[in-house]
Amino acid sequence: MSEGALFHAPWAWLDGRWQADVLLQVGPDGHWRDVRVGLPAPEAATRLSGPVLPSLVDAHSHAFQRAFAGLAEQRARDSDDFWSWRERMYGVALRITPDQLRAIAAQLYTELLAGGYTQVCEFHYLHHREDGQPYDDELAMSWALAEAAREAGIGLTLLPVLYAHAGFNEPALRDTQRRFRTDADWVWRACQRINAAGLPLISAGVALHSLRAAYDDDIHQLQRHLGTSAVPIHIHVAEQQQEVKDCLAATGERPLAALAKHGLDARWQLVHATHSTRTEIDRIASSGAGVVICPGTEANLGDGLADLEGWLAAGVPMTVGSDSQVTRGWVEELRWMEYGQRLGLQRRNVAAAPGRQPSTAARLYEACVKGSARAAGLEAWGLVPGARADFLVLDLEACGLAGVPTSALLDGLIFASQGPTWHQVFVAGQPRALRDAARLQRYAEVMRDCWGA
Ligand code: ZN
Repeated sequence: MSEGALFHAPWAWLDGRWQADVLLQVGPDGHWRDVRVGLPAPEAATRLSGPVLPSLVDAHSHAFQRAFAGLAEQRARDSDDFWSWRERMYGVALRITPDQLRAIAAQLYTELLAGGYTQVCEFHYLHHREDGQPYDDELAMSWALAEAAREAGIGLTLLPVLYAHAGFNEPALRDTQRRFRTDADWVWRACQRINAAGLPLISAGVALHSLRAAYDDDIHQLQRHLGTSAVPIHIHVAEQQQEVKDCLAATGERPLAALAKHGLDARWQLVHATHSTRTEIDRIASSGAGVVICPGTEANLGDGLADLEGWLAAGVPMTVGSDSQVTRGWVEELRWMEYGQRLGLQRRNVAAAPGRQPSTAARLYEACVKGSARAAGLEAWGLVPGARADFLVLDLEACGLAGVPTSALLDGLIFASQGPTWHQVFVAGQPRALRDAARLQRYAEVMRDCWGA
């Protein structure tokens, strides 16, 4: 990016509303240097063809599960639930090589860019060889993900996962979990190595798989390593009712309450947080931690509905994640986040805040823009000086929004558009390819290797 690159947008989403004639200047580091409203396009500016929106962070991804999306949608037994899905998913996890992971992730990350995400938080627990022994470089699978992100041109927050126990009363891992085995020392070493590599657009935080997979001693050891380090700390929590029951039986507390005792702060990102009480939400809110809701996956797995009104009212930072990859765009996630509430509560515009933000779409989208930087461990996010110059250019004619008044564009985008939605997606001031024939072909070959013709 040359010194002082300039873009001009007819409209841009700034400070929670559409503003006209916006001049956006990118610095040589690929971050916004200046954003100004109400200015004509200077000769030197690149004129963007449609309204400009900040992209979002995909705050929760398991890339390898892209190879399983859509392949667990048949039921041959009396019942099917999260736990039976998980056993089938492990069957895939046990087979994938680093080269295959790279091919799967390169295709996925291209699809995530097309879905309006420009940074992905990879909750990465598939570390070891198929026999459970470490690779010669114990981060071989992490580097495969980094290589895929570099190829697609998406930002990546790698989150090596602490995964030490099979359940609250199952201290060892099961044989089918042998590729996941790590402890706090391993995770901290991985985080430091990835950050020391200094790869463009790539950094690392840490993750704990869940309270059933990381006991108190594991969490304390990781916290000792982290100290005051600013890296994000992600954890799956309160996704399933069975998990709530098991946690109560083992600790006497529900998962969010048991987790809150560990001294949470703004680095913590609570993935799912589906089964909560208002008291628990207040405790999480006072800690500064964020929640990562994955509506597509939570629907697909029959997890339940998050208390969206409760989290929004408490002002808890929020993001969305593609998780199991059955959905790979944030428009669909936000649509389902609200639709789940409408179906369950038999009301409309549940997420709206009359008097403050009457637009459901704007309230959900703004919450996610605000939550994005923390979730990914970045300093800033959005169309603000200092944030990376990531943005989307809407193609109103292609996505079915022709003629929609500007004031309702975000509402129409979330609730009435159909893809492809973006004309262009930029990362660090550079446009990205939203499809790639070679990546798609390599991905299809891996799928054939995994599943046959
Ligand atoms: Zn997950």
